[in-house]
Amino acid sequence: DALGPTICVGEILVEIVATTVGDGFTDAQPLVGPYPSGAPAIFIDQCGRFGGAAAMIGAVGDDDFGRVNLDRLKRDGVDVSAIAVDPDWPTGSAFVRYRADGSRDFVYNIATSAAARFGWTAEVEALARRAGHLHVMGSALSMPEAREVIARALPIVRARGGTVSLDPNLRKELRQGAEAGQLFATLLSECDLLLPSGEELELAAGTDGEARAVGTLLTGGCGEIVLKRGAAGASAFAPDGSRVDALAFEVEELDPTGAGDCFGGAYVTARRLGLPTEAALTYACAAGARNVTVRGPMEGAATRAELDAFIAATPRAPGAF
Ligand code: ATP
Ligand code: MG
Repeated sequence: DALGPTICVGEILVEIVATTVGDGFTDAQPLVGPYPSGAPAIFIDQCGRFGGAAAMIGAVGDDDFGRVNLDRLKRDGVDVSAIAVDPDWPTGSAFVRYRADGSRDFVYNIATSAAARFGWTAEVEALARRAGHLHVMGSALSMPEAREVIARALPIVRARGGTVSLDPNLRKELRQGAEAGQLFATLLSECDLLLPSGEELELAAGTDGEARAVGTLLTGGCGEIVLKRGAAGASAFAPDGSRVDALAFEVEELDPTGAGDCFGGAYVTARRLGLPTEAALTYACAAGARNVTVRGPMEGAATRAELDAFIAATPRAPGAF
């Protein structure tokens, strides 16, 4: 990570969580929050907490929801110099409620909030020119402003020898148009690391079957694939055909939101700090598992020391590959 910080672009939100399980928000119900959130923000917070150089590009409103986010990112060592504070629009928000089957309903306010009101400023350009790695969250690609920043930052980071990772992070609530699809395809063929979860692998490849999808993507230019398998762990696939599997840690899942983002933040940071695939995968699984034991999407993001303690104390879930 000597080349410069890992940067991430996109939505910075507060999350308000329903404390009961059920279908959506059509009735009055108990809620808890605000928690700092937004997939790109959770990712970058985990990078900072793990001990990597990390910086965020996005925007918040000039309100308490914005301050909750800025304070947390700063506390965790994230450079917030390229986060704009919008004087007119409120900080973005997401309401989330879990259904009995474990799926989630969201009510988002992103497109009409400060979360989407950022762009290519002098601060953003200065940050891109000293960055060593660009991480893209698919969820951010639904915002035209984020697409512009990502498309401009990509060649700059590349030209300095920096690397790129992509988490497809597809959400049914966030419909993505043709332009998002185009940038997604570019990133897919150029990324050094792809971090899909579940069905995102086959969706990204446009092919059925795990092995075939992995083959298609690696042949198509993607440098490495790390597949997140929830409570079944994770697998890393390299173009030379080598594969590393990691069983999940055995935990009680209290709040699954943010697991994939913490996993990604820990994996990217561990690799950038020079750790081999096996060790990075262990840290990533630990970061994801630990995060689901804590309510709030970013609340379980852990330092490297906390992850070492977690790994020492937590058995692996039973399973096989
Ligand atoms: P998100 O819901 O944040 O989008 P994701 O779908 O991208 O998450 P997951 O596969 O759900 O990603 O979780 C990422 C990683 O976190 C998994 O590979 C696993 O290592 C760990 N993890 C997630 N859920 C659990 C769990 N219930 N028990 C143990 N480990 C878990
Ligand atoms: Mg995900």
